[in-house]
Amino acid sequence: MADFGEKCGIFGVFGRGLEAARLTHSGLWALQHRGQESSGIAASDGESIRVHKGMGLVAHVYNEESLESLPGHIAIGHNRYSTSGDSEERHAQPIITEDKILTLAHNGNLPSTRKLEEFLKSRNVYAEGLNDSELMYEALRFYLARGATLETAVARAFPLFTGVFSLLVMTKNKLAAVRDFRGIRPLSLGRLNGGFVFASETCALETVNANAVRDVKPGTMMVATKTGLKTYRLARGEQKLDIFEFVYFARPDSILLGKSVNEVRRNLGRNLARENPIKADVVIPVPDSAIPAALGFSQESGIPFDHGLIKNRYIHRTFIRPAQKLRDNDTQLKLNPLPAVLKGKRVIVIDDSIVRGTTSKQLVTMIRRTGARSIHLMISSPPVRFPDFYGIDTPVQRDLIAARLTVAEIEQFIGADSLHYLSYKGLIRSTGLSEKLFSTSCFTGVYPVDIAERAHEVSRPEAQGVPLGRFTTI
Ligand code: 5GP
Ligand code: MG
Repeated sequence: MADFGEKCGIFGVFGRGLEAARLTHSGLWALQHRGQESSGIAASDGESIRVHKGMGLVAHVYNEESLESLPGHIAIGHNRYSTSGDSEERHAQPIITEDKILTLAHNGNLPSTRKLEEFLKSRNVYAEGLNDSELMYEALRFYLARGATLETAVARAFPLFTGVFSLLVMTKNKLAAVRDFRGIRPLSLGRLNGGFVFASETCALETVNANAVRDVKPGTMMVATKTGLKTYRLARGEQKLDIFEFVYFARPDSILLGKSVNEVRRNLGRNLARENPIKADVVIPVPDSAIPAALGFSQESGIPFDHGLIKNRYIHRTFIRPAQKLRDNDTQLKLNPLPAVLKGKRVIVIDDSIVRGTTSKQLVTMIRRTGARSIHLMISSPPVRFPDFYGIDTPVQRDLIAARLTVAEIEQFIGADSLHYLSYKGLIRSTGLSEKLFSTSCFTGVYPVDIAERAHEVSRPEAQGVPLGRFTTI
């Protein structure tokens, strides 16, 4: 199996009289932040499924002609976010094969695909070189090709999907939304003119003027057909949303677990200020993701907020570049310092997270060069010490700076006068929700969905006799 994680954006529509592909196109625009590598839409008019996909941003992939070529009242779409260099067109989604009986869009990652591979092999389905999403597709196709309904095919294949998935699956006349039993990646249901809309985030429902109804529950499948919407329970679900959605990934205007992402980020900043009472002249965010947290920090501490780094809006996320060298250049292209705000000042810089440490080191160097008197870097989440297997692009633990170095060592590496992380307790408190509702694996190393044969990739320093305190600020 090709080995990479994907934290993508998915969107789907079912509704008589709706121009499903056009709505999906708008929805994908709103979910661009979840994936910038490729984009695709599959649509059905009830008779046949058509698809259009390509590499790049939504703005580049579609034009009037491609949208014209996707008639019908059912559609699914996907923005792909790939990671470790495997950015090939053949992996663009929605997935479809020549028989066009089925198409699928997946957000998430299966740490183990052993069960799927064994199943397909035992049924003589050729599965060489397929990634996790494609293996799921083949298992569903296997059942459909033997006459199963979409509902039955999903129910039969579901136990083979050992990992993390929010899925949209479409046949020529049905649309199903399916979520793993932990609900690690988000997926919400909306209503629009009597039809049904599914989206990774509620911000995309808002964009097409759909009313958000509720989340698709973990371990369930919702199927839209011409007779309406039905919900099926496939497993005993227990909500464990990836808390990194609140920290970084989701758009601030989305609602997750009933909470505004913007409000939660503001609380992260407030709690960071409470935990670290430091004197300074100005608080600046690393744009865009840390803006709400910096505002919260400023409100709580009384230190004025300002923009000290200006972002070039036309350069997208640096993580999209697989090679470290390209990433290094990107930060410089992306952000410029404002001397009038920084010169001679004691500056508090707020960022949402440190992953590899590349961004922070460059920013601190840049801000110092601009003439800041002192630089205190504050991170609105705890140290990321554990790799992700559920769809974020931090799969190798040795690449995580906080897995290798203590906070004091990171501070030194980055060159800040001081470095502070939000405590784990502060993180949970900021959500206003119970810790039980979250997957916190990147901070705690607790993986609520079995990572199976990949467990050996995780090293746990505390288990080897190094106290946890060495690795955190609290
Ligand atoms: P670093 O340079 O430490 O590797 O990256 C940290 C920066 O990347 C932070 O500014 C944060 O906003 C951003 N970041 C954190 N996690 C992710 C992620 O999963 N994907 C992308 N694209 N950016 C991330
Ligand atoms: Mg950032």
